[in-house]
Amino acid sequence: MSVCPDTAASLREISATLVEWYGRNRRELPWRETRDPYRIWISEVILQQTRVAQGLGYYLRFTGRFPDPAALAAAPEDEVLRLWQGLGYYSRARNLHAAARRIVREHGGRFPHTYPEVRALPGVGDYTAAAICSIAFGLPHATVDGNVYRVLSRLFDLALPVDEGRGRRAFASLAAELLDPRQPGMHNQALMEFGALHCVPSSPECIACPLAGRCLALAAGTVGERPVKRAKSTPIPRYFNYLHILWRGRTLLSRRGAGDIWNGLYEFPLIETGSPAGWDEVIRTPRFGEWFPGREEFRLLGATRMPPHQLSHRTIHACVWRLEIPGKELPAPLRAFVLTEGPGPGERAVPRLLDRYFETLG
Ligand code: SF4
Repeated sequence: MSVCPDTAASLREISATLVEWYGRNRRELPWRETRDPYRIWISEVILQQTRVAQGLGYYLRFTGRFPDPAALAAAPEDEVLRLWQGLGYYSRARNLHAAARRIVREHGGRFPHTYPEVRALPGVGDYTAAAICSIAFGLPHATVDGNVYRVLSRLFDLALPVDEGRGRRAFASLAAELLDPRQPGMHNQALMEFGALHCVPSSPECIACPLAGRCLALAAGTVGERPVKRAKSTPIPRYFNYLHILWRGRTLLSRRGAGDIWNGLYEFPLIETGSPAGWDEVIRTPRFGEWFPGREEFRLLGATRMPPHQLSHRTIHACVWRLEIPGKELPAPLRAFVLTEGPGPGERAVPRLLDRYFETLG
């Protein structure tokens, strides 16, 4: 059932107003100068997790190094993650890589041209598939992102929560009704850009809004209450005690496995505790005892307590304990770790948290 009170003709007028606004106000960005689905895909995935100003550099570096699916598919995963470093959500980089390999394997290196094929690529959801297909191929699929939720909830004064299934389905159907099938790519970009620049979360420019006369939330005085969201769940705290172990000017690292955060990234030997731990507690853990059966094997050089590091559902409280191993031989229990060539991680991708730690060392 439609949640839209407007007629098809007035919806076309809203779309036309947005497209006209877009023509006058849009930001000039490299992914808007192309209809190459590969580049549009890369830009969409990068922009899902960062602002345009920061994402632009990543986009240029990524597409400069990997100009097409074949180049991305041929790269080692470490290099892909390294170029992604700092953006977070590393599973997205791994999915890009896996999808590029599938494009090479199943589509001969040519980006697929139909919605079902694009949607079937690893990591490509409804939003990304709609963005690629509408912008690159002119297919009539509506994009629904945070900006679209905000604009639609205000224009139609909808109080359905945007982070619940019922609300998401209603907004998806409204976005589809509003889509202008004659120019879906332009319409989608206009709606998203309007939300990003004009109908912003706080202090939207209602006075100078070309849609003010049609905006039901403005008429009802509910702009500040739209969109409606459920209360956020509190992130779970985790306590990481990292050992930055230096041996003969080199550092020990290990690669994180699947099933937890930061899959595939490198980190220091880690001892996770259930609450913040001091050094006395760290050295009493069984894990520390396994790595250092004898106290004479290391010297504690110092500690850096990092500011809380926020992930979507976790807050990481990390302390990095810096140790030096004076002996000529690396103790046997530590030989399973990767040894870097110098004191830093070199070309290995590390989580942003550890990147920041290395920055503190200068
Ligand atoms: S009038 Fe205000 S709330 Fe309504 S669409 Fe325009 S900027 Fe957004």
